[in-house]
Amino acid sequence: MENQMDCIFCQIVSGKIPSDVIYQDEEVIAFRDINPQCPVHILVIPREHFTSLIDITSHEASLMGHMISLANQLARDEAISDSGYRLVINCGKQGGQLVPHLHLHLLGGRQLSGQLG
Ligand code: 5GP
Ligand code: ZN
Repeated sequence: MENQMDCIFCQIVSGKIPSDVIYQDEEVIAFRDINPQCPVHILVIPREHFTSLIDITSHEASLMGHMISLANQLARDEAISDSGYRLVINCGKQGGQLVPHLHLHLLGGRQLSGQLG
């Protein structure tokens, strides 16, 4: 899917909306969440617009693997890999997804609850 003009994360990808970018390459970009829920709260997103996780198929296996291994590397860089962290993808309204551009949350730096919803 083409990047969408009205998508806030597509605008972060294109640089139209400023963000605290900490990593980028041809496929993905990682930036700090504007409203962090933890001392470390980073979003990893594909440059390409996928509305949500439901749009991901086996064709995107390498993209998803890249997003997860990057999140692991960022956890090491942010010094939370030993203490522990959480990766979250919210999908759709009842899944708690607010921004309709696929994103992986990296959360850590404090004790997270065991609650999953
Ligand atoms: P969701 O609920 O869709 O899984 O999470 C969306 C996340 O995007 C939220 O944690 C929210 O704070 C973050 N967010 C929304 N708009 C912006 C923005 O313009 N810049 C940044 N850096 N984060 C944003
Ligand atoms: Zn988008």
